[in-house]
Amino acid sequence: MGRLWFYDLMSRAGWLSYRGKIMVMAFLGVHVPLLGVISYYAFIAATDWRDAVEVVAAALAATLIGTGVTLLVLNLLLQPVLMTAAGLRRYRLERRLPGLPVGYRDEAGMLMEDAEQTLGELDLAIETMANHDPVTGLYNRRGLIKGIGDRILADQRFALCKLRIGNFDRLIATFDLGTAEAVLRGVARRATAALPVDALVSRLGGGTLGFVIDQPGDVHAIARRIVATHASLQADIAVGALDIKPELTFGVAIYPDDADDATALLDNALSALTTVDAAGNQPTMFFSPTAREVARERFSTEQDLRRALQDDEFTLHFQPVVDLVAGRTVGAEALVRWQHPERGLVPPAAFIPVAEACGLIEPIGLWVFNAACRQLRHWSDRGLDGLSLAVNLSGRQFADPALIDRLARAIAENGIAPGRIEIELTETAAMADVGRTRDVFGELRRLGIAVAIDDFGTGYSSLSYLKDLPFDRLKIDRQFVADVHRDPSNQAICGALIELTRGLGISVLAEGAEHAAEVGQLQAQGCRLFQGFHFSRPVTGATFVDTVAQLDRRLAAERLMIH
Ligand code: C2E
Ligand code: MG
Ligand code: MG
Repeated sequence: MGRLWFYDLMSRAGWLSYRGKIMVMAFLGVHVPLLGVISYYAFIAATDWRDAVEVVAAALAATLIGTGVTLLVLNLLLQPVLMTAAGLRRYRLERRLPGLPVGYRDEAGMLMEDAEQTLGELDLAIETMANHDPVTGLYNRRGLIKGIGDRILADQRFALCKLRIGNFDRLIATFDLGTAEAVLRGVARRATAALPVDALVSRLGGGTLGFVIDQPGDVHAIARRIVATHASLQADIAVGALDIKPELTFGVAIYPDDADDATALLDNALSALTTVDAAGNQPTMFFSPTAREVARERFSTEQDLRRALQDDEFTLHFQPVVDLVAGRTVGAEALVRWQHPERGLVPPAAFIPVAEACGLIEPIGLWVFNAACRQLRHWSDRGLDGLSLAVNLSGRQFADPALIDRLARAIAENGIAPGRIEIELTETAAMADVGRTRDVFGELRRLGIAVAIDDFGTGYSSLSYLKDLPFDRLKIDRQFVADVHRDPSNQAICGALIELTRGLGISVLAEGAEHAAEVGQLQAQGCRLFQGFHFSRPVTGATFVDTVAQLDRRLAAERLMIH
């Protein structure tokens, strides 16, 4: 601060305020020499020393008044500077900004240092705000892009992962933004703890995080690391009195294999993310050039599905369920189809996964449930009072807190007995969140609705969970029914499952029975409920009543033949 040498020198008089220094300088610099000159001439010119003293006293009084007036004016001129200094200091104190400067102790010096320091801190704050997310304290998209840019400059191979909390928006809709953000912060905290410090864990907006895996090895090595991370991230997060499970999916793009700039990598990771199986069977997807194509196809199916909902293009088919001990049809399963104007009748496997991924499964599922209730009403009106109807629900519908209310309303509006409805949930969906499954099963049964676990044997459920779940029926997946009369391992599995249901006091149904020999084998093993092409394919609502009449005649005839 060479240019400030004079101020530096003056500032040493720390006990004097800035105003005081100016006053002393004004007095010393202007009035003292003036007073000196006046005194000198007064003593030379005066004959009597008393006259000289009088002149000097008058001059002193005049210079003091002069100093006073100068000071008054200077004071007014200095006012803005002093006020700014005081304001800046107050600002720093109120915000508890650190390290108040101590070098200069009057207002002007403080103003100088405070301003310099405050501007530096503002710069830092702006930089932090530009690169960080205020909710999680993580980097934001800009921060991540910067970090990726550095790695690209160093030409290191790395994997960029996008992690999406699938239920983020649903949590906002169901509870509030604060709850969703608490879950986001929980996942962010765990991700930061699970990943290396330089993983650049970032928030990319909404419920999406991004991070980098350095030296990623091959695709399998990355997948293993993500699976390890996934396990540590997915446990319930406590928010107030709630325990919320984050639904996590990952999309991965690799530098330089998939793209060579940050934005394209982010786009590709997102494109991989959109191809993730919404049922949660495969929560991590890697980018591939076809991923974009798959995503586009999904997008067009999604658009098409929205239109289909509006244009009422869905329809239900019904597959009879027979009880071979009673010798008649006891119910049916409602299976949705899409009557597409160009593609014809589209099976559920071609659109249910897309509907799950884009959130359309809720309105479609609700449509299915309402249509099933209407159908039951219609059958009752035609004398088919004893039949129950099973409706499939997807895991995502199960996670919807409004589910029970919606089902109860549809049942009430159609005036049907809840006991005639059965809800089917696949084993995989049931095991995704056993706590929630237990609660919803309990509520459904309180409403009087029966509950079945579908496709049993295809998931990896521990039998001890099964014991704790309140349900009424287990549907053995058709892969175990196929060839059961010839395949000893299927025989053993079906035998064990039938035994298990007997022990648990619930009923068991064999799905996909195509041949008499399979039915005969399972009947001998103690199964009485069947569903499959051997009895009837799924049929339209219009032909169902005739199909049942025909099937029941056939069952009665077969019984007569046996006895
Ligand atoms: P699921 O619930 O296990 O339904 C049984 C599926 O097996 C049906 O296929 C049915 O047509 C087929 N099937 C029945 N008997 C036989 C047989 O003897 N042999 C063979 N090979 N197949 C048989 P579909 O209608 O294509 O439905 C497939 C899956 O789509 C269903 O499996 C169910 O998980 C799902 N789905 C169907 N409707 C709905 C719905 O309304 N909502 C939801 N969330 N999922 C549905
Ligand atoms: Mg089913
Ligand atoms: Mg099934």
